[in-house]
Amino acid sequence: MSQRLPPRPCIGSHNLTTRPVINHVVGLSQDKAINETYEAILKKLKLDPEEKKLARNILSEVHKADTGVKWADIAGLTEAKDLLFEAIVLPSIIPNYFDKLRRPWKGVLLVGPPGTGKTMLAKAAATETSSNFFNITSSTLTSKWYGDSEKLIRLLFLLAKELAPSIIFFDEIDSMCSHRVTSTDVTRPTNFPWDLDEAFRRRLEKRIYVPIPDLTTRVSLLTIFLQNERLDGDVKLNDLAQQLDGYSSADITIVCRDAAFMNLRRYLTRNPTANIRDIPDRELDKPISKVDFEAAIKNCPKTVRPEDAQKFTEWIRLYGSK
Ligand code: ADP
Repeated sequence: MSQRLPPRPCIGSHNLTTRPVINHVVGLSQDKAINETYEAILKKLKLDPEEKKLARNILSEVHKADTGVKWADIAGLTEAKDLLFEAIVLPSIIPNYFDKLRRPWKGVLLVGPPGTGKTMLAKAAATETSSNFFNITSSTLTSKWYGDSEKLIRLLFLLAKELAPSIIFFDEIDSMCSHRVTSTDVTRPTNFPWDLDEAFRRRLEKRIYVPIPDLTTRVSLLTIFLQNERLDGDVKLNDLAQQLDGYSSADITIVCRDAAFMNLRRYLTRNPTANIRDIPDRELDKPISKVDFEAAIKNCPKTVRPEDAQKFTEWIRLYGSK
């Protein structure tokens, strides 16, 4: 029995019948293959020259055939992953089930402070559903290269449909609302959900919280970020995770990177006139120590204020999906 695809797109356009062409192009260099695919699509859509130019920009700058992010790359966020799995992945696996009352959600809103993994989740959902990924930000919409934002959105949806299954990710949708982009139907992560107007909020039927990482998640993040690094015996990930209370996941990556630079910094403090190219490898290649992490934590303050994190928690208590 051939599977009928569900009638409405949610975050991915699972109802659309054209499979991505890019996956089937073999034996050409990736760039050439992609360009040829793009040109074939543009020809098929019968766009005027101005639209063609715009569409080319979208395809080369906003679109990714493969985001390279997998669920396993994302620490914690089990609830968000489960909700996304039901809202996006399941309809792509058993589309017949997602019919009538069970039609897929029109839009999914990922809500949380910056740097907590919203973009990663959307990208992983694209990988999981073998979808094309379109990442659109407010700066793309306002860029002079793209001109009229209404036209841009129309073309974006047209291309996403043509390359279906597709996921369109609107980053910081709250700032886009002020640019009157109102005709969208897909995923919108946002930093400030309270700025979304009522009508918009209603269309985003699933609202998923992506919080600041808790202790267990912080340990997982450290495990992921430091998996290929040599650590001194005095580094205890659990203790380190305790010290990073209130840090976003992105903040934690920065602390780890900063700690990894400490050997070089210390060497240059001791040897201010050293010729950088002549620093012996053994000086640079030392394991990262507890002291390095402590210095890094001092260098890299958390970027989300507790009172701001609290506002998200309150908003999601009122409007969040379970
Ligand atoms: P947001 O979209 O919420 O602002 P991102 O998904 O862009 O945040 O995350 C920024 C960076 O922080 C990622 O590229 C990744 O390095 C790291 N990161 C954020 N959240 C996670 C997570 N849950 N697991 C692993 N890395 C994360």
